[in-house]
Amino acid sequence: MILVSACLLGQKVKYNGESNDHPLLMEYAARGQFLPICSECLGQLPIPRPPMEIQQGTGADVLAGKARVKNTRQEDFTPAFLQGAQLVLKTVQQQGIRAAILKANSPSCGAGWIYDGSFSRTKIPGDGVMAALLRAHGIRLYTEKDVNRSLLEELLSEDAAQKCS
Ligand code: SF4
Repeated sequence: MILVSACLLGQKVKYNGESNDHPLLMEYAARGQFLPICSECLGQLPIPRPPMEIQQGTGADVLAGKARVKNTRQEDFTPAFLQGAQLVLKTVQQQGIRAAILKANSPSCGAGWIYDGSFSRTKIPGDGVMAALLRAHGIRLYTEKDVNRSLLEELLSEDAAQKCS
């Protein structure tokens, strides 16, 4: 299986109660090789919920106890992000998942770039909390910005071959 951020596959789980529908990913989901997952839902955060960003750091810093995830009122939701990330990692390990396609820039799912904590849509290099935990455990990370038919065919073939081995 390939882990995919649930909001990319039409699930209305994002902070404002909407989804981030990605037509190509939704088309390939029909093949049954995607596992949709929402780290923030697994952390028991409600839908809708206030927007949150990592303050003064990245997901890796949150995992190291050096940064926190807060909303615009500076309320701290770090424990929920950590809980969600750990539950995603547990699922990934149980299912032998090796790759994930995640929603860009999210404080949970962002891979490579995230918002900087100023709620101004300014980006900095780094991963969200869940993405950082998966990366630390050797999972290959992509975002929807990397997705094209060629990448999806490659990932699905690799997944199929893994099942047969
Ligand atoms: Fe989408 Fe990930 Fe945010 Fe859930 S935690 S809404 S899957 S970006």
